[in-house]
Amino acid sequence: MPYSVNKTEDEWRDELGEEQYAVLRQAATERAWTGELLDEERAGLYTCGACGAELFKSGTKFDSGCGWPSFYESVRPDAVELLEDDSLGMVRTEVRCATCGSHLGHVFPDGFGTPTGDRYCMNSIALNFTPDES
Ligand SMILES: [Zn+2]
Repeated sequence: MPYSVNKTEDEWRDELGEEQYAVLRQAATERAWTGELLDEERAGLYTCGACGAELFKSGTKFDSGCGWPSFYESVRPDAVELLEDDSLGMVRTEVRCATCGSHLGHVFPDGFGTPTGDRYCMNSIALNFTPDES
């Protein structure tokens, strides 16, 4: 699938730094309970840590207890790309930024009690947060 933001892996590596590069471009997973945005509760917008595309609104973030920032819905259905991922002996659905193809996390159908029933389980380091101006 063609992305509207395209960079070489060398360019991404220079731009993102080691930790962000490992998650966004090599699909690493940050350790649970370590992400800076896990406990972020302010109103605002979550954007792609690689390209800045809008991904999630604060109103869809919920406390899933899983140790990663969790959302029940992306800001627009076409903001993210979903791919089957059968790595690590599990079948999961990978979530990528639809604008630049960077890895964000996985989505699971266990967002119990949310309007969609989905749990977008995101790496904090893959996201940037911009609080609404008060
Ligand atoms: Zn992106």
